[in-house]
Amino acid sequence: MILAKNAQDLTIKGLTGHKLLDKGKIFCYNMVSNIETLLKDGVFMDRTQQYIKKIERLLEERSKLEHILLQEKRLIKGSVITRFKKCGRKYCRCVTENQPHGPYLYLSRNIEGKTRLKRIKPEEEAWVVQYASNYREFRKARERIVKINAAILDLINTLEEVKSENYPEDTID
Ligand SMILES: [Zn+2]
Repeated sequence: MILAKNAQDLTIKGLTGHKLLDKGKIFCYNMVSNIETLLKDGVFMDRTQQYIKKIERLLEERSKLEHILLQEKRLIKGSVITRFKKCGRKYCRCVTENQPHGPYLYLSRNIEGKTRLKRIKPEEEAWVVQYASNYREFRKARERIVKINAAILDLINTLEEVKSENYPEDTID
């Protein structure tokens, strides 16, 4: 490509008359085609980058969640809830003063579609509460990973569309 500040500069380089005109056309053509290519690449980059960035963010989030799943923590299925109880004795304060006993801790579990409560022994409260909390954390991370995986797949499919160049089909009769 000829690079010149002005016509005089081109003349000095030995380019005059129709030669100058031709070189000018080539110069302009190159400029326009370069700009077109740059714009096309720029739009392409913008469109692909936004999807790539989204995928990268999700991969990063998933990696953190995977660490939660891989921790060496024990789990117990169910959630710990508290309940107050009336003991059944006729003259107990739980009846006479409406002060039920407790709170007691229960492990609430879904067994065959039904919620079942199991009273946690006081001496076992510490580890059951901890393991149930670990279980909740595990399930939460797992649930989010399932959503992230679906979102990543959607983005990958979109990215494929965006990256794909159209090419005319054969029109052989
Ligand atoms: Zn009572």
